[in-house]
This record gives sequence, structure tokens and C-alpha cells, in this order.
Amino acid sequence: QCFKSYVAERLQELDKLRGQLLLTNQELDRLVHSSQENLSVLAHELKTPLTSIIGYSELFLRQQQPVVRDTPHSLEHIERVVRNSRQLLRLINDTLELSRYEAGQMLLRLEPTNVRGVIQTVFEVIQPLAASSGLQLLLDAERAPDRVVTDPLRLQQILVNLMSNAIRYTEVGDVTLQCRVLSDGWWSIAVSDTGIGIDEASQAHVFEPFFQVLSPEPDRLTNSTGLGLAIVARMVKLLQGEISLTSEVGVGSTFTVVLPLETQSSDEQPNSTVVM
Ligand code: ADP
Repeated sequence: QCFKSYVAERLQELDKLRGQLLLTNQELDRLVHSSQENLSVLAHELKTPLTSIIGYSELFLRQQQPVVRDTPHSLEHIERVVRNSRQLLRLINDTLELSRYEAGQMLLRLEPTNVRGVIQTVFEVIQPLAASSGLQLLLDAERAPDRVVTDPLRLQQILVNLMSNAIRYTEVGDVTLQCRVLSDGWWSIAVSDTGIGIDEASQAHVFEPFFQVLSPEPDRLTNSTGLGLAIVARMVKLLQGEISLTSEVGVGSTFTVVLPLETQSSDEQPNSTVVM
């Protein structure tokens, strides 16, 4: 009898402990599985530009005979080496940024922010890219909030990312940024394009690390890591907001970010720097 009640008590304790566990076994399994998967995707993504760098460097070395030296060909090879090296650097930087978030080390610096000022900076960064692609940038910010409390640098990163994607995946037309105050302490910012659009099945996955609707051809590799939107989504979450997507193939896409007018700092960080 004594043993029975002892076992019953321990079982009750176990039940309580299970309730306190943040993750179920299944969720843990899924997490482990997805990090292993991410690691192998990353290894593959790193391998592609590296293989190209090695290949073109070797070719260039072999071409160092008088006949072909300094031909436009060798210049093209060096350009490819540089392009692929940039891609490698971007991949490494993006992976570091993502892992910083996963490790809870992505910092927020909250401060009163002039939204129009941030948008202005974003347009200055993006304008050359739009101009070289022959696309028009449009701004609708009449109903934008004057001042919000947020992390201006993260906000800028989010917008630059969304707008450069919009330009990258649009052949003709324009890219519009629309900003407005919503009700109950929220505001929104939407980036729309008239580009290739994203099919319905892929829409659910675009915020996952390394997801790409189509594998880019080797020459379009630069700037493409499949990590941009994963980082954007995590930053939006850190700012206590939400991101959504509506898109139609061949018509265009709209990414909408809804943010609080005042992102709250955590209790432990009264100096308005939030460590998550
Ligand atoms: P990438 O570096 O490949 O652009 P992202 O995470 O930024 O990575 O985007 C993931 C995928 O979502 C892209 O590969 C692309 O297929 C698709 N995508 C993102 N933005 C757009 C857009 N504005 N229009 C069409 N497709 C897009």
C-alpha cells in the first residue's frame, strides 16, 4: 500500500513536470530534425559558390599562357570569382544573423523613431537598384504615423530586404511602399510589386530558412540565399509585430508588416534595450 501511494505520488510529480516542459518530445524531435536539415542545406549552399570559385580560379591559372592572357574571357572568370565570393560572404553573414536570433542574442534598440526618416533612408539605399532595373518606386505615406517607438535600424533592414526582393522579382512595373496608422495602437507598412508572384503552395514556406521558390541559375546566385525573409520574419516578431503575404503568380506580391506604435521593452531592460 505504502509503495503504491509512493508510486502514485511520483507519477503525479512527473505529470506536473511534464506540464512545465515547454516543448513536447515531438516538438523536440522536430527541432533537432530541422536544425540537422538546415545544416545540410547550408553546407550545400556554401558548396555551390565555393565550387564555382575554385573552378574559375583554376581555369584562370591554366589560362596564364601568353596566348589567352588578358582576354575578356579571363576578366569574366575573375568577375565570377568575385560574385561567388560575395555570395559566400552574404550566406555566412545571413547565417550568423539568423543564429544570433535563434540563440536569443539579436539585440533591439528601442527609441522614438521618425518613420518618414527611416523610409527616406530606405529609398536612398534602394533607388539605384530600382533605377538599374528600370522600375519605378512609389511611396504612399500620407497616413503614416509621425512617431513610433521601435528599433529604427531593424525597421530599415526589414524594409530594405522586402524592397530589394520586390525589385529582384519584378521585370516591369513598379514597387510601392504604403504606410498607415491602423486602429488600437498599430501601424502597417506594405511593400507591393508587379512581379512574378509566388504560387500558393510556396507562400506558406517563404519565411522558412533557405526556402527558394525556384533554384536560381548560377549567374543569379548573387544576392540570393533563401535566408532574407526568414530573418525579416524573426525581426518583425522581435518588434512584436506580424508579417503576412498575399500574392498571385504573374500579377505580383504584397508583404505587409503590422507593428505596434510602441514596441515594449522587456522588464529586465529598463534602458529600452531589449535582449531576447
Ligand atoms: P532569396 O535570397 O532567395 O531572395 P528570401 O528569403 O528573401 O531569399 O526569399 C525566399 C524566396 O521567396 C525567394 O527565393 C523567392 O523565390 C521568393 N520571393 C521573395 N520575395 C519575392 C517577391 N517579392 N516576389 C516573388 N518572389 C519572392
